[in-house]
Amino acid sequence: MPEEQLVKKPRSFFIKVKCSGCGNEQIIFSAASRTVHCLACNQVLAESGSSRIRAVAKIIKAHL
Ligand SMILES: [Zn+2]
Repeated sequence: MPEEQLVKKPRSFFIKVKCSGCGNEQIIFSAASRTVHCLACNQVLAESGSSRIRAVAKIIKAHL
């Protein structure tokens, strides 16, 4: 049964997001421990969660 695999998902990966404020594309780390802001306009792109961040901006691509 593949149940164990659900628990052992990759702990961290990179996701590319597009800022809704200025359109800047930025790659953020899923395991970042704090809120990630846009480097161009300082808008919040992702908020830190319990174990991984939650993207606020539009996700363009996820890199495992
Ligand atoms: Zn921005």
